[in-house]
Amino acid sequence: MATVTRTHVELVRLSTPLLPRLVPAATFDAFGWCESDWLDWRRDEDFEVASATTAQNPAGMAFVFVADCAYLPRELARLHVGALATPDEWALAPYGIDDATDELYQHRDRPRDVLCLAAKNLDALVWGLHDWCHFHNHGPFDSPAWTEVQCDASALVWLWQNRALIGLEPAEWEGRREQLLAVARCRFIREGLVLDEALYSAERLRALF
Ligand SMILES: [Zn+2]
Repeated sequence: MATVTRTHVELVRLSTPLLPRLVPAATFDAFGWCESDWLDWRRDEDFEVASATTAQNPAGMAFVFVADCAYLPRELARLHVGALATPDEWALAPYGIDDATDELYQHRDRPRDVLCLAAKNLDALVWGLHDWCHFHNHGPFDSPAWTEVQCDASALVWLWQNRALIGLEPAEWEGRREQLLAVARCRFIREGLVLDEALYSAERLRALF
């Protein structure tokens, strides 16, 4: 007889306060158009912290719709996060992050009223928090490298603030900081810009709140 393992899904409310703007004003046309405050995160007991954060999209991550949002592209949530979603729940399509950034702003829909994050591992949580910043700001997107600095910083600060809830060790946070810095260096090189690495200073990020 097969043994059925039941996954225990836990809902964790992460604090996600708006950060000060760290990048040039021209990066945004509507910085903090919606002031972020919290994000509901679904996890289970198999949450793992080993997979590194790179420029690749994470596995095991989806923004699950908690309210109807017909103007955004959707896929069945289970395809991406398995038992963190019920069989009939829908999630923002992974290719729809930019659509959500544009359309949530156009419709003035508060992100937490329509989305929660299901993330099976730390890499997924890092990118989920990064995208959470995108959803609360709007910009001309003519210098993505700068936009991403604000989103990386938000993700790192929110990770640090919520580390006890997440069960994150300081060394694990430091690892993600270094990995996001490495990704940022490549973005700035691609755009022919110079990255001020002090923007990713651990001391500065931890001191923001
Ligand atoms: Zn981004």
